[in-house]
Amino acid sequence: MIIVMKADVQPDSDEIRRVIALAESYPEIQTQVHHIRGASRTVTEIYLIGQTGVIPTTPFEEFASVEKVVRVTEKYRTIGRHEGSHESVGFEYNGVEITQDNLTLFPGLCAVDSKQNVETMFQVLAEHGLETARAGAYKPRTSPYDFQGHGAACLPMVFELAGKHGIRIVAMEVTHETHLEEIDSALEAAGRPTGVMLQIGTRNAQNFELLKAVGQQQEYPVLFKRGMGITLEESLNAAEYVASAGNHRLVFCLRGMKTNYGDPHRNFVDFTHVPVVKRQTRLPVCIDPSHSVGRRSVATDGVLDIFHATAQGVVAGANLVLVDFHPRPEEALCDGPQALLMNELPHFLEDVAIARRAYEERLKLRDRLGVH
Ligand code: PEP
Ligand code: MN
Repeated sequence: MIIVMKADVQPDSDEIRRVIALAESYPEIQTQVHHIRGASRTVTEIYLIGQTGVIPTTPFEEFASVEKVVRVTEKYRTIGRHEGSHESVGFEYNGVEITQDNLTLFPGLCAVDSKQNVETMFQVLAEHGLETARAGAYKPRTSPYDFQGHGAACLPMVFELAGKHGIRIVAMEVTHETHLEEIDSALEAAGRPTGVMLQIGTRNAQNFELLKAVGQQQEYPVLFKRGMGITLEESLNAAEYVASAGNHRLVFCLRGMKTNYGDPHRNFVDFTHVPVVKRQTRLPVCIDPSHSVGRRSVATDGVLDIFHATAQGVVAGANLVLVDFHPRPEEALCDGPQALLMNELPHFLEDVAIARRAYEERLKLRDRLGVH
């Protein structure tokens, strides 16, 4: 059961203490207090944990400070949508709003290589009005002999260049909890010229200790990538680890499933799950067409498969797109063959805008003709 407090109720108020005292007066019931920072307001939610089926909702609903009482299913207690009556967990970070209703693009380098390539990337993105980018410093690789990322050593350069070009958020994978500290120190030393969204890669989707570590800090939002070889339900449970540890600034990212049934693509593109994840959770949903498709194949209509996959996700309501670009893919130390080229960026941006308009038109059509 979740008691949702009214938006103006202060986190440390007597009202909240009284609701908690009532909740804990029921046998074997424990409480957890979560402050949900939505896109437009912060709401306090009190979670009742234990056998809540027998607890009546009315005594809680009678508090003037309580907005509503939601009975939750056991599943996805924090990120779940339950009864459809729950706020979505959008957030604002470093001046960028990320919600279940809007669309933000994160083009960039799969892996940071040279300073020159990072500079070109951020500069070109800024020229196109973008303020969010990807840039991987820590790379989980299949072979120990492959490039593992420049790690902490490249962070000062990446953060300085991001700040110089007005990039507000850099999405960056972490593979160990010590990376949080390294990122935080480097950002602090640089004067926090940009923000970081911590990416959990598909290989770490069930690294529960890492999930708890990124969940226990509140400074940085988290982009959680679904596990490539586990069910959606298992991935959603894993994302719940982050939110249940206290960090609600969380995005769920679809990036394809590992199976030969997806051949010739690198992974089986799973963007039909965009509306499923939006229905089952309150989280903004990201798509990663680069790691799903994994190649620069061009369809017979002359459009790259990566563009087609992106459009499919966006037309279904995706909220973020994480996509690999590279100024010189032949120099890339990771995933060069799937990178889009900088001169393809204007085409990509317009193509995405068309797909987004199509999604918005579809919502208007739903209002006009939809039967529910
Ligand atoms: C990445 O985005 O750089 C990456 C490694 O993706 P994934 O974890 O989805 O393979
Ligand atoms: Mn990659």
